[in-house]
Amino acid sequence: MHYDVVIIGAGPGGIFSAYELIKLNPDLKISVIESGYELKKRHCPIDGVKVKSCIGCKVCSIMNGFGGAGAFSDGKYNITNDYGGSLYEFIGRDKALELMNYVDDINTSNGGKDTHLFSTAGTPLKKICMQNGLTLLEASVRHLGTDINYIVLENLYDKLKDKVDFKFETKVNNIEKTDSGYIVNYGEDEKKDECTYCIVSVGRSGSSWMGRICEELKIPTKSNRVDIGVRVELPAEIFSDITDELYEGKIVYRTQKFEDLVRTFCMNPRGAVVNENTNGIITVNGHSFEGEDLKTGNTNFALLVSKHFSEPFKDSNGYGESIARLSNMLGGGVILQRFGDLERGRRSTQKRIDEGTVRPTLSATPGDLSLVLPKRILDAIIEMVYALDKIAPGTANDDTLLYGVEVKFYNMEVELSDKLEPCHKNLFVIGDGSGVTHSLSHASASGVYVAREICERNA
Ligand SMILES: Cc1cc2nc3c(=O)[nH]c(=O)nc-3n(C[C@H](O)[C@H](O)[C@H](O)COP(=O)(O)OP(=O)(O)OC[C@H]3O[C@@H](n4cnc5c(N)ncnc54)[C@H](O)[C@@H]3O)c2cc1C
Repeated sequence: MHYDVVIIGAGPGGIFSAYELIKLNPDLKISVIESGYELKKRHCPIDGVKVKSCIGCKVCSIMNGFGGAGAFSDGKYNITNDYGGSLYEFIGRDKALELMNYVDDINTSNGGKDTHLFSTAGTPLKKICMQNGLTLLEASVRHLGTDINYIVLENLYDKLKDKVDFKFETKVNNIEKTDSGYIVNYGEDEKKDECTYCIVSVGRSGSSWMGRICEELKIPTKSNRVDIGVRVELPAEIFSDITDELYEGKIVYRTQKFEDLVRTFCMNPRGAVVNENTNGIITVNGHSFEGEDLKTGNTNFALLVSKHFSEPFKDSNGYGESIARLSNMLGGGVILQRFGDLERGRRSTQKRIDEGTVRPTLSATPGDLSLVLPKRILDAIIEMVYALDKIAPGTANDDTLLYGVEVKFYNMEVELSDKLEPCHKNLFVIGDGSGVTHSLSHASASGVYVAREICERNA
């Protein structure tokens, strides 16, 4: 089959590429190949009753399928160059913001119109943070929520499904370069699609696949960082000054002891803590719903420290994986500890958790995070908890819950031009799979960007 464009991966990067291509040139022949399920078939078996923790499905419905890793996420589209990726380094700050705003327009006109857009512009919290050694990063945040995010994805799929050839439950094996374009080999029976343009948008779950493809096509790459830390859960009231105004406050702290940077990440007001499965390793994450009836009494967010190894050890992700494996070995999954127990150098037990005032929203194994996290990372997290306690008193309470470990793996960075093209013409590598983006808005914007470039070249 010959296509004008083959898109590999139907996460936000792939979806927004397809959306923009069809909008600009409805005559283009486009194929989207996705290893996961279509949206309505995506279902994680963990129900908290019969299946309490990850059973390692062959295809993880949380990470793979239409909507990608973002399908059941909190749907926070952060419109900013301050975090979420370094797309602006390739395409410029103004262009990156323009595209993120454009993506926001598409989301709001496809089901998200009644959702809230939060902003740090003019907030007094900025000064309060500064006065306490903390830095508040600037952003506008569209919070779709897990429920509305799903509706937006359903609407986008309805718009695309008759104009694009979707192939679900189909893994791409490899890409071959030809004189006029690319051959994409897929499926167990080694089928082939030929194309003039190929967009690779395989996200984090496709990181090892991406590494192999870069080797095969001799595309240079650089190692990337890994973020390691814990997820904090506390009564929503403690953080309400921050979350009521900003929804998500991205706050950075430089520790006094080692001058390491610790940051808050993925704040979920009145949300729930969840398991995440990355290649069979169970880590922790969080989300929240927009609907009032689905909200909880707790707020959760991650505290993360970045590590980037270069010489002689380069495998930053391998380091993060080993720490996560250690927590899985000791806890059979995620470990849960009260802050007071951590400070007193003792493990949490079920009895101590039950006696505490904060009810955990995730069933995890009570234990001791100091046996898992390296001292330097743990010291940085403890220092940050006390720093946050100054702007949100109660953060450092004994009953504050810490779940570990939370690891954010980043793909190796693919060497790309300002068109997001590696050393091969008309091949584009976008989204989290490129190592350039780490968020819904940046990944989506990168998809729109390459779609426009393809339409210009094809004019
Ligand atoms: C639980 C969770 C919550 C999150 N919450 C937020 C949030 O609130 N805000 C935010 O900005 N970001 C959030 N993120 C991150 C966000 O989801 C990602 O940054 C974003 O989805 C990246 O988009 P992408 O298209 O680059 O990749 P992905 O969304 O990962 O999509 C890639 C797709 O490619 C497919 N694929 C991979 N390899 C192959 C192959 N060989 N053949 C065929 N298909 C393949 C995968 O199945 C996947 O569906 C969250 C992530 C998780 C896991």
